Amino acid sequence: MEVVDVVLKAKHLTALTGAGVSAESGVPTFRGKDGLWNKYRPEELATPEAFARNPEIVWEWYKWRMKIVFNAKPNQAHYAFAELERMGILKCLITQNVDDLHERAGSKRVLHLHGSLKVVRCTGCKKEFEVNEPPEKTLCECGSLLRPGVVWFGENLPEKILRDAIFELSLSDAIIVAGTSAVVQPAASLPYIVKRNGGIVIEVNPDVTPLTEIADISVREKAGKFMKELVDEIKLRLSSKTP
Ligand code: NAD
Repeated sequence: MEVVDVVLKAKHLTALTGAGVSAESGVPTFRGKDGLWNKYRPEELATPEAFARNPEIVWEWYKWRMKIVFNAKPNQAHYAFAELERMGILKCLITQNVDDLHERAGSKRVLHLHGSLKVVRCTGCKKEFEVNEPPEKTLCECGSLLRPGVVWFGENLPEKILRDAIFELSLSDAIIVAGTSAVVQPAASLPYIVKRNGGIVIEVNPDVTPLTEIADISVREKAGKFMKELVDEIKLRLSSKTP
């Protein structure tokens, strides 16, 4: 079974992406080689407890990440997913990423399970601001602390977005899962919805993950190269079909 055949046959293809898809844009992942957590421990930085204990250090870390993400450019994987959507093949892209590289590559239907580094929210009045660079001030006009608009470990995912993602997956007969270590819940469980419904799970990751066990196809390659080749092959097949 070739990925290109599955993708062309699928009636409702979805994708789930993780930090690995942005790695080739120079955005560090959390896990895997060169992951952020090799230098910092997640529980010291990406939890509500850490923020309550030491908001300055948490903010410093997020400002550093924001700078990297805002200066990064989409890579071939982001462009390939956007192209699949434009071609009417990919119906929905669900991402754990907090960067906006999918959107900047042209993807329209993107569900951000873990929020966005472009959003800053007040912990007091709950007002939200969009930012294009790390904020200079981390205090709201109301006097309360601002926080990054991301989901921290131990926090709930945005309810509507999770509901929409589950709905899309319940319709899916195939899913491409790319660049995720598949250990952060509940995101890691989402491909199981497709599998349980008899759909096909395609994993794209240079490393083995807990998802590999249930993947129908495991592609041990980097997402950029593989996704570009996939789109090129799809275009070739479609063009050779037209009279
Ligand atoms: P993760 O860091 O846990 O795992 C990254 C995975 O990507 C690893 O399995 C690694 O083998 C794989 N990978 C590395 N390079 C790749 C490539 N070129 N092509 C394909 N796969 C590659 O990432 P995750 O599973 O998304 O972790 C979840 C948490 O990490 C999420 O909460 C997410 O918000 C956060 N995160 C996001 C970003 C971002 O937005 N770019 C960056 C770091 C962490």
